[in-house]
Amino acid sequence: MKIHEYQAKALLKKYGVAIQDGVAIKSIDEFDNAVNTLRERGVNQFVVKSQIHAGGRGKGTVYNKNNREEVVVQGGVKFFGSNVEGAREYAAKIIGNILVTHQSGAEGKEIQTLFIAEGLDYKKELYLSILLDRSNSKDVIMASTEGGVEIEKVAEETPEKIIKVWVEPGLGLQSYQARELAFGLQLEGSAFKDFTKFIMALYRAYLETDATMLEVNPLIITNDDKILALDAKIGLDDNALFRHKDYEALRDLNEEDPLEIEASKSNLNYIKLDGNVGCMVNGAGLAMGTMDLIKLAGGEPANFLDVGGTASAETVENGFKIILTDPNVKAILINIFGGIVRCDRVANGVIQASRNLNLNIPVVVRLQGTNAEEARQLLTDSGLNLIAADTLQDAADKVTQALAQAV
Ligand code: GDP
Ligand code: MG
Repeated sequence: MKIHEYQAKALLKKYGVAIQDGVAIKSIDEFDNAVNTLRERGVNQFVVKSQIHAGGRGKGTVYNKNNREEVVVQGGVKFFGSNVEGAREYAAKIIGNILVTHQSGAEGKEIQTLFIAEGLDYKKELYLSILLDRSNSKDVIMASTEGGVEIEKVAEETPEKIIKVWVEPGLGLQSYQARELAFGLQLEGSAFKDFTKFIMALYRAYLETDATMLEVNPLIITNDDKILALDAKIGLDDNALFRHKDYEALRDLNEEDPLEIEASKSNLNYIKLDGNVGCMVNGAGLAMGTMDLIKLAGGEPANFLDVGGTASAETVENGFKIILTDPNVKAILINIFGGIVRCDRVANGVIQASRNLNLNIPVVVRLQGTNAEEARQLLTDSGLNLIAADTLQDAADKVTQALAQAV
């Protein structure tokens, strides 16, 4: 699960991680209150930060929501110093409009929340992240003196500038490792000490929140040599959310694909992609194989959809509905192995859904396993545009033909 910067910072703060402070607002009417609250905390410089689930906001572009051609302003994060009037004007201009960044996709994201943050003066931007290194079965902490820029770029052009430290799972992060990172970042004096405290707290936050990744870019050294997180990004492990009931409130459905939300309600593993062939499969491995098959046949998968090994006719119907809601879908390939679920029931689910949804695109259905013959008969007799296929090759050929006719 992704969360916003302001939420990530609130979590980090609980673990004693030093962060750039701020107040989140959902409407411009709350702006003055936010500034006053920060003033009471001794803040006298301000930054306005768009809250969307994508990075690269600083270098992004804000477009008018009602006229996507019109650029409202460059930059989704802006520093205003003590110029509160300027900050208010900018905030009013961007809220409710669309921010496009290199990570948001061309369609961008609507700015529904702003983080009014304390503006800080700093002398250096650093990079810091923690994630699981699967090839080593250990968490890896990555740090770099090249902060504020995309780390992918640093990794490509100057990989020697990324320092890595692997944490032994049984031992946890050791203080000598914290110092190793601090040396690597060329820190001295109080910044050095501050950093070792910072990384210990950050690693604890990573562990205890069950994060899949935690990135601080930039981590800054302020003019008075303090270390703090200017930006913060946390990915939370969906499989561990049951241990953190309170994180459910952090989920922002506005940021998620409506079809994916609908799918998760029916316990379907659905991920929307950009292609034109919808696919519905039971089992993740078979789903991956089917996507390859679609590609081989010259199509592009419109989605990944695993209805699960124990899919019922009802789940199949729900999955089918979700695929059909995607306007890009020009043909569908259903590839289901009837092991626990019987093929005739799946066929009935498909027929039912096709009737209910006025199906008008070709659907190739490959059902193998228990009652496959009956299923085939049901499909053929339905009078619908359902094309029964036998083998994988047969399914691939039929989808190719169906696509050629559809496009
Ligand atoms: P991102 O672009 O989505 O990664 O958003 P960041 O939170 O990293 O902010 C983008 C940029 O805004 C930073 O790299 C800084 O250059 C600038 N910025 C953010 N907060 C401050 C601040 O308090 N003071 C100054 N001087 N610049 C800031
Ligand atoms: Mg950043």
